[in-house]
Amino acid sequence: MIRFENVTKRYPDGTTAVDDLSFEVAEGELVTLVGPSGCGKTTTMKMVNRLIEPTSGQIFLDGEDIASVDPVELRRRIGYVIQQVGLFPHKTVLDNTGTVPHLLGWSKAKRRERAAELLDLVGLDPAVFGDRYPDQLSGGQRQRVGVARALAADPPVLLMDEPFGAVDPVVREHLQTEFLKLQSSLHKTVLFVTHDIEEAVRLGDRIAVYGEGRVEQFDPPTKVLGAP
Ligand code: ADP
Ligand code: ADP
Repeated sequence: MIRFENVTKRYPDGTTAVDDLSFEVAEGELVTLVGPSGCGKTTTMKMVNRLIEPTSGQIFLDGEDIASVDPVELRRRIGYVIQQVGLFPHKTVLDNTGTVPHLLGWSKAKRRERAAELLDLVGLDPAVFGDRYPDQLSGGQRQRVGVARALAADPPVLLMDEPFGAVDPVVREHLQTEFLKLQSSLHKTVLFVTHDIEEAVRLGDRIAVYGEGRVEQFDPPTKVLGAP
């Protein structure tokens, strides 16, 4: 579903953030990327939806080189959830959730209908929360809206960059459990960044263990835990 082939990213200042990365994520698989801050996880994610371009190498989505896929089409095929700052503060929960459908030109009625359905899906009553603004929500509720928004156009792929990193541990565990249920019922292919090995193990079908721009291990949780 997603394949990295010898992908390297060097920033203009000379920092090599990702160094000759090659791995493949199967359809419906949830892969967690784990490693210390600065090892290239976010850079990896941003290259998948073309927020940044690789210096060399290729990334394939369903066999197609993403370098030749239109960025708006990529928004339809890939949902993106990030920590905290993901929501537009001046937009209501319903409008935030309908961001990608708006980009795709859906009618307002259709956007609102879809947004309400998604809020239900992530456990937020649209009648209660739909017209609120992000600063009128708890941290956990905001992250739920982030997940709803990423699912709006029903993309086969989800990129999640520390989506639950900013919420307290109890809420976090709850969100993890719900996300796992959602992911298996919707059968999404997921790349999930975390610096928390427990979260990586709990969620991942396989874990990509990063160190300094490279994937040092790419294995199921039992094998990662068994490593010395
Ligand atoms: P994290 O992924 O740890 O939440 P960021 O992605 O914001 O944090 O940044 C990761 C690292 O990259 C940090 O050490 C930050 O200083 C560095 N960084 C981010 N943007 C730039 C930039 N434009 N130039 C240089 N370093 C940067
Ligand atoms: P992680 O997500 O694992 O914290 P990042 O992918 O954000 O790591 O960063 C990887 C490396 O690239 C770090 O050394 C970081 O400082 C550097 N980096 C990130 N963004 C930039 C940037 N825009 N310009 C220069 N260096 C950057």
